[in-house]
Amino acid sequence: MNYEVVIGLEVHVELHTQSKLFCACPNRFVPEPNVNTCPVCLGFPGALPRLNSEAVNLALSASLALNCKVASISYFDRKNYFYPDMPKGYQISQFFEPIGSNGFIDIEDDSGNPKRIRVGRVHMEEDAGKLVHSLAGDMSMVDYNRAGVPLIEIVTEPDLRSSGEARKYLEKLKSHLEYVRVSDCKMEEGSLRCDANISLRPKGSDKLGSKTELKNMNSFKAVEKSLEHEIKRQKKILDAGNLVVTQTLRWDDNSQQTVAMRGKLQAHDYRCFTDPELAPIVLTEEEIEKARVSLPEMAEARACRFVEEYGLPDYDAGVLTASRNVADYFEECLKVYNSPKAAGNWIMGELTAKLNSSGQEIEQCPFRPEHLAELLKMIDENVISGKIAKDVLEKSFESGKSPGQVVSDEGLLQISDQSELETIVDTILENNSDSVENYRSGKTKAIGFLVGQVMKETKGKANPQLVNELLKDKLKK
Ligand SMILES: [Zn+2]
Repeated sequence: MNYEVVIGLEVHVELHTQSKLFCACPNRFVPEPNVNTCPVCLGFPGALPRLNSEAVNLALSASLALNCKVASISYFDRKNYFYPDMPKGYQISQFFEPIGSNGFIDIEDDSGNPKRIRVGRVHMEEDAGKLVHSLAGDMSMVDYNRAGVPLIEIVTEPDLRSSGEARKYLEKLKSHLEYVRVSDCKMEEGSLRCDANISLRPKGSDKLGSKTELKNMNSFKAVEKSLEHEIKRQKKILDAGNLVVTQTLRWDDNSQQTVAMRGKLQAHDYRCFTDPELAPIVLTEEEIEKARVSLPEMAEARACRFVEEYGLPDYDAGVLTASRNVADYFEECLKVYNSPKAAGNWIMGELTAKLNSSGQEIEQCPFRPEHLAELLKMIDENVISGKIAKDVLEKSFESGKSPGQVVSDEGLLQISDQSELETIVDTILENNSDSVENYRSGKTKAIGFLVGQVMKETKGKANPQLVNELLKDKLKK
């Protein structure tokens, strides 16, 4: 049978605040367990929560960036369940009235057509602690450093129809949240976590099939893979005439398959009620409007501007604006030296490769925008060749020295002196009479080999244009 895939995503994002959601403990990762704790986040009897206004501001910005309607009054509720990493026996969340609702993110579907994914709700909640299991498997310890860290949960409507769409949605979501700087959104460090609900139904049906929930996916690639795996698994069950069991599954990266965790709790199992110890969050029209106008230029608008203002191809503009830090880097570079296409190429090519291999973020790497500007200027002015420039970038990236400094320290200046190059060209022609004959008998491609020999001789420092001219001129004779 032909099936339609139905996916909804729930994404938890840690908010980038100074302190926790309801106490003054620092919101910062430390390796030592249970040091960022106090009676409030440890759930001592009688300790009273106090709401962190910075977290509310960030949740507000996130809601607006996701095109949500912001509630003028929203509440905190208690979600009751027992688990050792939850010291109070309940989690404070927004169950009945979330801060943001009815938003959307626009993506492209698998055929490249525009598609709107509805964001049903954005709500605030506190994180739980963490269980640490001993290697021998005979003991579990609990670390409450993370208990009470502010989160937002972003829930889509079941609008996604493939694993590819899910991945595109997540990439867009991450970009939006990074633009408004509410979180660093590092999936591998757990500051962005994604759960997926997935079901299949016969094509054309509007009734939802029974779903499973996927957890523990620690990268966008893992999300895509585990969804693909789960689609195949459910299809097999349905094709055999059986029913999919509603349950929570965990993605196992090692075996590359989903593994059952537990039967899924239904919402009413949590016995939610409004927290009597916390006042509602009240946001006035003016406060919401003020937050709205202070949103930065978002990725899509910025990409359009890059095409218009800098004449970049759509593709380049899309890549350069996917992250706000990359887009900022690009524009910083242009302020010093205005060469948009070249700057874009170097950022997307060599610099990205260096960042990936060194595991650094663009905003922290020692190769600053003004360094790139200096490098581009040196290439344009024929001070160094494009080939040497790659080495210069590498050395500058590693040492933090400016490209000019690297060039003078390493003696990498381009040889553009005609008489110096002529001597080298003459020697190469003398030693490669075969290629010279080939060229003169019409095999003009032979010149490529000769250029290569000159570059080799000069360790890449010869001005390639000048070498070409000299060779052509001499081969004519
Ligand atoms: Zn605390």
